[in-house]
Amino acid sequence: MKKWFGIFLFICCSLASQAQTKYTLAYTDSAVAYVNISLQPAAPVKGSTAFVMPRSIPGSYSISLYDQFVEDVYAFTAAGQKIPMLEDGNDAPRWYAADSSLPIHLISYRVNLGKMENRISLADASITRSGFAGILNYSVFGWLDGKEKDPVVCTVTSFPGWSIFSSNEPLLHPAKEKFIFQTDNYYTLADGQLFIGTRFNVKNYQGITPLYVAAYCETGEEYLDDYGKQGTSAMGILKEYFGELPFEQYSILLRKAVPLDHKTAPSLAMEHLQSSTFFGDTSGMRKAAMSKERITATIPTIIHHMAHSLLPLRCYGDHYRPYVLEIPPIINHIWFNEGFMWFLPYDTLKLERMKKRFVDNVYHTAPQIKQLSLQELSQLASTMYGTDFRIGTSLYSRGALMALEMNEYLLQVSAGSKSMKDVFRYLYQWSKQNKRPFTLEELPLLLNQSCQIDLGKIYAKWQLPIQ
Ligand SMILES: [Zn+2]
Repeated sequence: MKKWFGIFLFICCSLASQAQTKYTLAYTDSAVAYVNISLQPAAPVKGSTAFVMPRSIPGSYSISLYDQFVEDVYAFTAAGQKIPMLEDGNDAPRWYAADSSLPIHLISYRVNLGKMENRISLADASITRSGFAGILNYSVFGWLDGKEKDPVVCTVTSFPGWSIFSSNEPLLHPAKEKFIFQTDNYYTLADGQLFIGTRFNVKNYQGITPLYVAAYCETGEEYLDDYGKQGTSAMGILKEYFGELPFEQYSILLRKAVPLDHKTAPSLAMEHLQSSTFFGDTSGMRKAAMSKERITATIPTIIHHMAHSLLPLRCYGDHYRPYVLEIPPIINHIWFNEGFMWFLPYDTLKLERMKKRFVDNVYHTAPQIKQLSLQELSQLASTMYGTDFRIGTSLYSRGALMALEMNEYLLQVSAGSKSMKDVFRYLYQWSKQNKRPFTLEELPLLLNQSCQIDLGKIYAKWQLPIQ
């Protein structure tokens, strides 16, 4: 009896683990900048279940109101009955079925990408152009409350002849018209990016792991091989630094578009578990091979964003989370996430101009910023990191200078045998083993344990406002 029950339980569990939420995204009408989305849980859910859109994207340190671009949300019953979904009356990015008495089989909605690009910065928006759609998955995909950890299968469809590249499952020769891929859960789906169209290129480079470069540039084709060189050498640098790479392949997505309002757009980037997306207008387009010096001068941002795949995306503490959330968390140590990972390219390349910029950002910024303790500045930056980039730059620069000072101290005390490299490795391995965020109280202790050298004084000094 016991045995049979065990087998029964096993069958139930394996069926449950195969239960997938089916997502679809269709971009099939280029006359209007809309994508149509549907999601269907493995089994119908209660009629009272909320559909939720994310408002917090890891690494963006801001509030992202993607719910304002979602339109025509409907629930469908298994019998095909269509029920309107109404947005929450208290400003939550949640929708509920107007009639909650019937189980929900499927949700469908559309996302107005034209409105999105008009309202928010180019780097935060999914965009459409002639022959191209560049989709940030977190800006279009929401989840059914309680189903966000279920495995996902996602089907993307577009026009005949249009290629579909997904950073979740990158391919050198992307499928055309229809592409189906799977992710562990909703969070991994939201972490991905999609390029759809005829106007982008994909190249593949062999580094420690395969590197894919997918590039769209509105005004012409970019020269990609230097990105390939930079991406593969960034892999080498990170392997050297951390002792291992956390991904089996990596994608660099480049999206250079003319802004709708014809102003210039800053060059920005966003890190993901196994990719980074680099945004900007077309002024920085690479038309030909660069000099060696230029390759070195422009590699720090690639190293920095790839390094984020280790820290903070797989090694993090406090209230930061490496997945989308409904409400942005107040994070007390963004200086660790950002500053320590800007120190890394500085330490590798020893570019004096980087150090000079850290110093300028810390000591020659607004008095209101200098007056804040490190924790206060981090809390402020939790939703305003890039809104007033003086906040972001001075915060990461304080972290970078703290790391720099710790590094010099470690080298000095250990007669050159210990450095921040040992600290990063220790923290990364600690996170792998403990599978949880470290607390703010634990962080200085972990820093000390890394090399068995007391870094407490340097840590304490940098917690204070800047004199
Ligand atoms: Zn960063």
